[in-house]
Amino acid sequence: MQEAISHIRSEKRKYILRVQSAALKSIHDYMYENGVVQAMPIILSPETDPLNHPHFDASVEYYGQKLHITKSMILHKQLSLLNDGVDKIYFMSPNVRLEDGKLRESGRHLFEFTQVDIEFKEKTKEDFIKFTDGMIAEVYRRVLKDCPDDLAALDRKLAAPKLPLKVYESADLQRQYGEHFEKVASEAAKDPFWILNYKREFYDREDKKTRGYYHNYDVVWPQGYGEALSGGEREWEHKEILRKMNERNTDMKAFETYLGVSEQGLIPRTVGGGLGIERMVRFLTGQKHIKDVTLFPRVPGERIAF
Ligand code: ASP
Ligand code: MG
Repeated sequence: MQEAISHIRSEKRKYILRVQSAALKSIHDYMYENGVVQAMPIILSPETDPLNHPHFDASVEYYGQKLHITKSMILHKQLSLLNDGVDKIYFMSPNVRLEDGKLRESGRHLFEFTQVDIEFKEKTKEDFIKFTDGMIAEVYRRVLKDCPDDLAALDRKLAAPKLPLKVYESADLQRQYGEHFEKVASEAAKDPFWILNYKREFYDREDKKTRGYYHNYDVVWPQGYGEALSGGEREWEHKEILRKMNERNTDMKAFETYLGVSEQGLIPRTVGGGLGIERMVRFLTGQKHIKDVTLFPRVPGERIAF
């Protein structure tokens, strides 16, 4: 209990919350100015991101139906664009990912966190990269303009990044920096940057000609802060979705509505990404561990006080 009280009462708390508020305000303004409409998130669903890495199940039974706590809103983002009049959408979506306690020491994992989840219809990854560059630049601009005293109190020096942010192929970085290229490249960088092409979930679009090339990306914060955003162009063709689910041994019964929509050829052609809010605030405020930017820490493997 004492630990929870002193965590909440940390001297840094007000500075961090003010920087977070400025950053979120800049994101909402940027969305509004660019015609991206906000929709409300859901946190329970029979269908959610399969998250192809080890984690514990988080689901409840409700009147005979199994409902997962959303691991991301990716599938809902895609289907939200089924409406002809809605082309650009975002959610502030809470995600629960009960990952391995080994991740406790990473300093950048929470098993409960919030993403800015963005999705555009009939756009390409180049469009998304340009849009997101502008959004990141706005976050820096607003925080530098509105929070100089907070940054000074936190002893954090930030400098606006040069646009366009640099874009790298993962294969090139791997050649240069080895297996842990994302981490090493992040430590070496001064500005955020893009890495293209990761083998990930079934929903990120794989090139049909050069199988094994994914039209997806991460944004990485510099100075060793690591991953900021993941996303990509999405699969929309039923047979491709099935092929990739099979390749990943996905339980198709857990995607009944999604697959029903794709079978009808209705999955919109979209591109998007999810930006981790706590990770962004950790970077902006220069905190060592992500738990320091949250009021109520949820560190993998650690007991929750409150
Ligand atoms: N589903 C991704 C994630 O949560 C984000 C995205 O692809 O939009 O990491
Ligand atoms: Mg990711």
